[in-house]
Amino acid sequence: MSARVALVTGASRGIGRAIASELAGAGHRVACCASSEAAKETQAEIEAGGGTALAVRADVGDADAVDAAFGEIESTWGPVEILVNNAGITADGLIARMSDEHWNDVLRTNLTGAFHTIRRATPKMMRGRWGRIVNVSSVSGQAGAPGQANYAAAKAGLLGLSRSIARELAPRGITCNVVAPGPIVTAMTDAMPADWRAVMEATVPLGRLGSPEEVAAVVAFLCSEPAGYVTGALVPVDGGLGMGH
Ligand code: NAD
Repeated sequence: MSARVALVTGASRGIGRAIASELAGAGHRVACCASSEAAKETQAEIEAGGGTALAVRADVGDADAVDAAFGEIESTWGPVEILVNNAGITADGLIARMSDEHWNDVLRTNLTGAFHTIRRATPKMMRGRWGRIVNVSSVSGQAGAPGQANYAAAKAGLLGLSRSIARELAPRGITCNVVAPGPIVTAMTDAMPADWRAVMEATVPLGRLGSPEEVAAVVAFLCSEPAGYVTGALVPVDGGLGMGH
């Protein structure tokens, strides 16, 4: 498989870090983006394993910061050919008490962030007539979740965004797919209430939470050359929680 230039957002920890490592293991040069300096740890981990990585700092909700990060990657390696929008946050609360700030913050990072990176990446992907875009949604985007109206709306929005992009860019050899994880062991799920994990283990057909590496393996396949005939797909990685939805 050809070595490509990849960008993974939210790559400082959890699922994003696992995706960055998996893509580096496949031989790609991987830019690891996070809103803090912490993506440098991912870069160091990849380099220690013999891979090639570059930590870039950007808040994906800030179009100028995204533009600057792309500029840094392009001047180092050339155009981004694989884009994984994984950066995400939660700010849960019941709808009647959800603040404008919590609504806007979650939409800004989870949905507008993907818009910013896709808009910046695609002109050069089109010129190269090759591209892979994977957007990390959530089982909540399909099924909804009480207390997560903002998060579920953003994650469902990623599906409409992705399928529109998939249709728009298919003639240029660019695919765009969505991966929808169920409960995965990361800092995000560590922050859930104590009884949440036990409820999830009892609800998920496979009887356990998933690992970041299990999500990363699916993302890496969708970014690969052999996945060239897969576009507009929603691929759940949820232990059977949504049974394909
Ligand atoms: P995490 O909280 O461990 O990591 C989130 C990453 O996103 C971090 O690197 C953080 O620095 C980065 N980030 C946050 N805001 C950012 C911003 N504005 N700009 C750039 N980077 C930013 O989360 P995780 O559990 O690894 O989740 C990764 C993705 O998977 C998210 O989109 C999340 O919604 C989704 N997801 C997670 C689960 C789960 O159970 N963990 C389930 C379904 C979907």
